[in-house]
Amino acid sequence: MKQKGLLYTGKAKSVYRTDVKGRLIVEFRDDITAFDGGKKDVLVNKGSYNAEVSAFIFGYLEKNGVKTHFVTMLDSKRMVVRELSMIPLEVIVRNVAAGSIVRNYPFVEGTKLNPPVIVIDYKDDSRHDPMLNDDLIVALRLATRHELEKIKKTALGINRLLVKLLALQGITLVDFKMEFGRAGRTIYLGDEISMDSMRLWDRKTGESLDKDVYRFSKGDVMATYDRVAGRITKKMVVKAKPAKAEPERTPRR
Ligand code: 5GP
Repeated sequence: MKQKGLLYTGKAKSVYRTDVKGRLIVEFRDDITAFDGGKKDVLVNKGSYNAEVSAFIFGYLEKNGVKTHFVTMLDSKRMVVRELSMIPLEVIVRNVAAGSIVRNYPFVEGTKLNPPVIVIDYKDDSRHDPMLNDDLIVALRLATRHELEKIKKTALGINRLLVKLLALQGITLVDFKMEFGRAGRTIYLGDEISMDSMRLWDRKTGESLDKDVYRFSKGDVMATYDRVAGRITKKMVVKAKPAKAEPERTPRR
């Protein structure tokens, strides 16, 4: 597959055309931004960590019956995807109160949300991604009611799968953001699912394991991304190649 011209460039990813019909290449760049681009940096290898985690999660979701745009990885930063007509919605599922809903509503941070809460924002940085409701989405012709029901059902299904996967690694999925797109009449999960788009807390220590480390200068972002990427993708490595038992060492006196 040959990479062709740039189709779109976002804050942390670039999308290229290819010589194959219906296939695009997404490049996960090393740029990191927060607060609508108000805080910006370049962190070497950050793109690879997000690409690795996204590819792993898309693969896991596909195995569990979720339609995603993921096709394959070309290298550590470039993912081949199905071309979609993107729906400009940020579909956020929240399992624990944190972030903007604590700032905007009288929730106490850390309160469990059961059942999970779905919040849908309009993807438009110039308007600061305002929250939508079903009527606004339909009136703006962003999606039909039928599509919206399908998107919400799929989002909750993805949430159940991810909560389960991450719990195995001692990680709480606090909330995460998804984007969907159409190919013909089918709706696929697009964009990425990574440390940039999930809010993750260590179950034991409560430590942030995601972009909040960058947003709020909580520590070494790259060390966090490295550790969490290892934890999330560990299951696959263990399954593919069972680790050999370490030879016993004679204790030193
Ligand atoms: P909040 O609304 O609390 O800022 O974000 C809720 C969740 O959605 C967090 O996990 C956050 O990372 C994700 N999220 C919200 N907006 C965006 C966005 O514009 N880009 C990305 N990558 N993630 C977002």
